[in-house]
Parts: sequence; C-alpha cells; structure tokens
Amino acid sequence: MPQKPKTPCRYPGCSALCEEAYCDKHRQQVNHEYNTQQRDKAASSFYASARWRSLRKQKLARNPLCEECARQNRLTPATMVDHIIPIKQGGQALDMENLQSLCWSCHSAKSILEGSRFGR
Ligand SMILES: [Zn+2]
Ligand SMILES: [Zn+2]
Repeated sequence: MPQKPKTPCRYPGCSALCEEAYCDKHRQQVNHEYNTQQRDKAASSFYASARWRSLRKQKLARNPLCEECARQNRLTPATMVDHIIPIKQGGQALDMENLQSLCWSCHSAKSILEGSRFGR
C-alpha cells in the first residue's frame, strides 16, 4: 500500500503534516466550529418564525415588566422574551411556562453567565 502524501494542515498558522485536510487537533476544532454555526443558524431561523414572534408578543402582553428586575423590586419594562431553560439545553421552545420577560440588561447578564458555564 503506497502511503498517502502528507500535506500541511490547512488551519491558518498550523504547519503540522497530516494525511487529511487538517491535523487531528484542528479537525476536531473545525468540526466543532461548523456544528456551532449550524446550531446558531437553526436558532436564528426559529427566532424569525411567525410562531415564535406571536408567542413572544403574548408573553410580553402578559408580563410587560422584566421578571428578573421584579425579583429585586425594580420595575423595568421588558424588551425581550427569554427561555428559562435554553433551547439548546433541551428547554421547550414554544412553552409559555419556559418563557420569561427580561429587560436588555438582565438578558445580557444571563447570556454571559450561560456562555461562561456552557460555552466552549
Ligand atoms: Zn493543525
Ligand atoms: Zn431586568
């Protein structure tokens, strides 16, 4: 069996010689990035869907104030609807019980928290 010629890894800055397009390390990384992008794409098409937009409107009509701020006795108008259990962690996307109204600052605080706990 002739050996396959080895070529440098295609990952920018990596010069490891490998038989595939990427070395072992970067093959995993590239796959991971690809999967993450696909997931983000799926999530953003969900947020653009008519079902989500109407549910979101109902939720804001029911809870027009930020629920997180309300727990701290602050009255802040909610500007977004958040999934209490994120969809990517198996939360129900279209279940009113899994939604909470949040203001922008509470939402970004939550996203940062989730990012650090469940991100890469
Ligand atoms: Zn590499
Ligand atoms: Zn808030």
